[in-house]
Amino acid sequence: MNGEQERYLGSVKFFKNLIFIAVLILIIVPTVLAICNGRNASRQASRAETLEQERQQLEQELARKDAETVPQTQAQPSWVPDEEEPGYTEDAPYYESLYPDFYAPQPLNAETRAEDTIYLTFDDGPSERTLEILDALDREGVKATFFVVGRNDEISQERMREIVDRGHTIAMHSYSHSYTQIYRSVEDFLDDMYRLFTLIVEATGTVPTAFRFPGGSVNAYNTGINQQIISEMLRRGFTPFDWNLSAQDATNTPLSPAQIVENAMTGAERVSRGVVLMHDSAARSTTVEALPTLIARYRELGFTFDRIRPDTKPVLYSYRNYEK
Ligand code: ZN
Repeated sequence: MNGEQERYLGSVKFFKNLIFIAVLILIIVPTVLAICNGRNASRQASRAETLEQERQQLEQELARKDAETVPQTQAQPSWVPDEEEPGYTEDAPYYESLYPDFYAPQPLNAETRAEDTIYLTFDDGPSERTLEILDALDREGVKATFFVVGRNDEISQERMREIVDRGHTIAMHSYSHSYTQIYRSVEDFLDDMYRLFTLIVEATGTVPTAFRFPGGSVNAYNTGINQQIISEMLRRGFTPFDWNLSAQDATNTPLSPAQIVENAMTGAERVSRGVVLMHDSAARSTTVEALPTLIARYRELGFTFDRIRPDTKPVLYSYRNYEK
């Protein structure tokens, strides 16, 4: 250490500098610490943010997995009901919203009671037999009902028009007549019937109001949904018709006309309204041949004939009110 340095250590200038440095340290150190802390805090905050994002992503992932494992039957229907609509109930099945133009006009004065009336009905047409049946009915002055299926070729559509033009009732039997297809669900039934409805309306300009289940309203294929189908079709204005008399003419080999007459007469004396099941199909010429005798026999019992009209009461297997 030289003499100049010794003088400086003890001098006023030395102490001034010492104080200056001390003050500097007192200001700088906390500032630096504060800055470091701040950086640390913001680093921690962004880490927390990342963790929160990861947590949310995991939650979303879990929710997605949950949704995937929910069974199909619990899935929400894509249709959302309009709660403002009058008559809306939360229990309304969503198929009620399907096919908004698949409705029959409601008769103004429902239920005209027709006693001692026979309704001849022909299923599965139109066919090569249709015109023969129409001619036979014309000769007897009898109106009948044809439950047709979905034949959309021009000749079949012409036959449908002929049914209507000659004053008979055209009604729905199903488009495909495929039990396994139409009885899968109420929606499948509606889908099929709506196709037929559209075909009939376009071919004839007439809105059909009656329908008949292929195989009848109660069969091995539709148990479990037949009541829903009936109530939904009634809601839309369509009336179901089974039969309480049958020609039993849907056999592989055609029956004799005499046998057809006997079958169709069986039980006739017990009913006030007889709905007779017969078939309009190419293979059944004997059904046409049986018609004059059959009509005469019903007349002998005091019956008159009518076609099914929009206000004709339904006839179903479970309805016993048609018996005398
Ligand atoms: Zn049929």
